[in-house]
Amino acid sequence: SRESRLVVVSNRVPVPGRRGAGGAGGLAVALEAALKEHGGVWFGWSGDARPAIDADALDEHQVGRINFAVTDLTKRDVEEYYLGFSNRALWPVCHYRLDLAHFSERDTAAYFRVNGFLARKLVRLLEPGDLVWVHDYHMIPMGSELRARGFGGRLGFFLHIPWPCPEIASALPEYRRLLADLTAYDVIGFQTPRDAENFGRCLAEEGLAKHLGVGWYEAQGRRVQVGAFPIGIDTDAFRQAAAKAENLPAVKRFVSTLGQQKLMIGVDRLDYSKGIDERIKSFCAYLDAHPEERGRVTYLQVTPKSRSDVPEYKQIQQEVAGRVGEANGAYGTVDWTPIRYLNQNIPHVTLTGLYRSAQVGLVTPLRDGMNLVAKEYVASQSPDNPGVLVLSRYAGAAFELDGAVIVNPYDAAGTASGIARAFAMSLAERRERWSAMMRHLETHTVNDWWRSFLDTLARGDGSPSEHA
Ligand code: UDP
Repeated sequence: SRESRLVVVSNRVPVPGRRGAGGAGGLAVALEAALKEHGGVWFGWSGDARPAIDADALDEHQVGRINFAVTDLTKRDVEEYYLGFSNRALWPVCHYRLDLAHFSERDTAAYFRVNGFLARKLVRLLEPGDLVWVHDYHMIPMGSELRARGFGGRLGFFLHIPWPCPEIASALPEYRRLLADLTAYDVIGFQTPRDAENFGRCLAEEGLAKHLGVGWYEAQGRRVQVGAFPIGIDTDAFRQAAAKAENLPAVKRFVSTLGQQKLMIGVDRLDYSKGIDERIKSFCAYLDAHPEERGRVTYLQVTPKSRSDVPEYKQIQQEVAGRVGEANGAYGTVDWTPIRYLNQNIPHVTLTGLYRSAQVGLVTPLRDGMNLVAKEYVASQSPDNPGVLVLSRYAGAAFELDGAVIVNPYDAAGTASGIARAFAMSLAERRERWSAMMRHLETHTVNDWWRSFLDTLARGDGSPSEHA
């Protein structure tokens, strides 16, 4: 497998020199490491939208052994394929939010059209022995589009977000076609065993595949492997950065404003899947149940803006800001602001220091594929005096981080009890829970994740997966 070239396909491509101010994220760094080892291509959208584009144009940037190959899309493509079907149909449905889903025939057609358009450009770069690894919900039809254009090599797909149960998934426009397109891959990876199981139930109910055994299906005359490959973080990098970050001026200044107060932290992109509104209600329920703690605890919520050009996100932006204002107005005093809300992006180095300063990390999504913040919080703790993770049962991370205090984010009183339990936990119990989680994170890093996926994809010998 190490001889095979790797071709990574994702909606956005972190072309060196063209990245945003934040540089490459953890996933981008990890996939670059994979590409460096194998040599190959990273293909996708440039991130630029133009009124009209050249149908054959491809921007290629060779950096060492990696060819970053990107194409622009038209403004209409971006509107319909990206903002429309990907972010207003697939995203809400996969996060169990049929109430927020927006379906349009125009957007659905564009989704398949743009995938075909991208496949036509990509296929020119492919060589017979290539391992092709397609990422995430924007790109489900890519595999079958490549097959239709004659690519016969190994094709893998990884879904970074949840895959819902059939009752929910079946609400998707072109549901059967999406499922059938997924069976064009040799390996389909999900974040958790639950997602893989849901997908298997969808295939079975639609009669699209024959179940051969744990993690194996036969569809369209080919064998398809389905399994859980939970993504990790660069655990060592967080551990090391957090140990130093306590000395950063910004972190020191922040901690000095707390005085004797305890700190609880939440860090989430502004997204309705994150349960921020419910979390604020839970914090208020905690203050109601423990009036003696008023003035003794600060809740810091870091929430960068996200997808602001999608209508459902404009609405949640106002809801969360309103909820924070109400809570501070109702519970605050002249010398105490219960919730400090930052509606902006904080860089990783600073975040690690904030994570480490917080006695409680509150991660309560209503639904989340994995949730890396939960893992980052754990990896950033001091071994001598670690904080406690309060984690939603609906985060993919809950399948691995069993040392967390697990809560139901819809239950404000129950989540409030979880917060109280976390603040009251003995040092011995905190250490025991933290060590167990840290051991897991050290042996399941983001590099372990891509190696295990690519080993499975390259193997292709029909032997059952250890991940199934
Ligand atoms: N993040 C960040 N700055 C912020 C807020 C978040 O760098 O102000 C990062 C965070 O550290 C994590 C990522 O954004 O690495 C969020 O990943 P997660 O899996 O938790 O959620 P997603 O946003 O992918 O749904």
